[in-house]
Amino acid sequence: SQLPLFAGGEIVRGFGRGSKELGIPTANFPLEVVKSLPESLPTGAYYGWANVDNGPVHKMVLSIGWNPFYNNKEKSVETHMLHDFNCDLYGQTLKICIVGYLRPERSFDSLESLIAAIRGDIEQAKAFLDEADKAKLKEAPFFTEKL
Ligand code: ADP
Ligand code: MG
Repeated sequence: SQLPLFAGGEIVRGFGRGSKELGIPTANFPLEVVKSLPESLPTGAYYGWANVDNGPVHKMVLSIGWNPFYNNKEKSVETHMLHDFNCDLYGQTLKICIVGYLRPERSFDSLESLIAAIRGDIEQAKAFLDEADKAKLKEAPFFTEKL
């Protein structure tokens, strides 16, 4: 398959759809980074590793979806790192390693069911990333290299 897949770029502002208020902030990539990913990559939820400005590498869940800002013609790539930063990261460099696929993109009939699904994604991601073959990707040279 196409995974694992490495990508990196500046963290930009999203639409402020309130992810932060839900306790699930997502760091958004600019369009040029999204376009650098294979077009055939299915939308949905993924898990992997991520770091900010070449810092410590954290577990993450990632959403690839259709971006309303571009009339759903372009994908959006949003990374939620399983780490408390206690600050904004706009303008900093996010690097990700997309390790595996969790589920297709879907709509939810309530905020509660959306949050429950993401909580489920996070629990799956944690367990998968502890498997040796996936854990070793945390040490990939990519995370400390100059972009
Ligand atoms: P936006 O719509 O601008 O993306 P969000 O509500 O999704 O706003 O919040 C995302 C922002 O929160 C990120 O760009 C980053 O600056 C910050 N942030 C703080 N902690 C995290 C985290 N654990 N994972 C991702 N982003 C985080
Ligand atoms: Mg976001």
